[in-house]
Amino acid sequence: MCRHLAYLGPPIPLSALLFDPPHGLSHQSWAPRDMRGGGTINADGFGVGWHTPAGPVRYRRATPLWSDNTLPGLAATIASGSVLAAVRSATVGMPVTEGAAAPFADGPWLFSHNGVVRGWPQSMAKPAATLPVTDLLTLDAPTDSALLWALIRSRLRDGPAEAVAATVAEVERAAPGSRLNLLLTDGTTIVATTAGHALSVRDDDFVLVASEPLDDHPAWRAVDDRTLLVAGPSGLHLTSLGDA
Ligand code: GLN
Repeated sequence: MCRHLAYLGPPIPLSALLFDPPHGLSHQSWAPRDMRGGGTINADGFGVGWHTPAGPVRYRRATPLWSDNTLPGLAATIASGSVLAAVRSATVGMPVTEGAAAPFADGPWLFSHNGVVRGWPQSMAKPAATLPVTDLLTLDAPTDSALLWALIRSRLRDGPAEAVAATVAEVERAAPGSRLNLLLTDGTTIVATTAGHALSVRDDDFVLVASEPLDDHPAWRAVDDRTLLVAGPSGLHLTSLGDA
């Protein structure tokens, strides 16, 4: 399945996450180490979103990250204190388009999903029916990840961690066995889940969460499965998502 990461801290060039580390996201796109049976490489598009004083900016493509000749130069010269990036391995049957690549966005929010919703699309018919029709008509793509984003967005007024946890619970009821590693940030808080896929975290004067550690620094910690991770002004908090 996909690989993704989110960074919050002092501004750094995008290349410090994507290209410079030995196992940065570009390396993870063609040589991931811990896919847990969910695909082999992440060649079906990518996206990077970063916060600026004017709001988030995204660069997404439907092609492999390693084949983009423009991004390395941009990434070396664009710095941000909040970044969310993803490389995609499309679930069988789902379209390979720019709109299907994370991050999905709305206002200050950037979102990514690593995993799969089982029984798609039939399993999600009832949860989807709770959304305004216009939300469904304006999905970025007809994929599980884009619908997850619409469900979370509809709950954001409850708070980001609450919206993510409630959506995971709803989707697990409707589509048991789904894999739901989610990442959400507004530039001041990161919310992440582990439900079926790998995730590691580094917590220093910055927070960096990533599907796989970007290097062999000893400060990387694996996040247990079924964790809700919240990182923000009050530090890093890990709680259990509870049983599926
Ligand atoms: N199911 C999602 C998609 O196809 C996410 C895939 C993944 O995690 N590899 O886009």
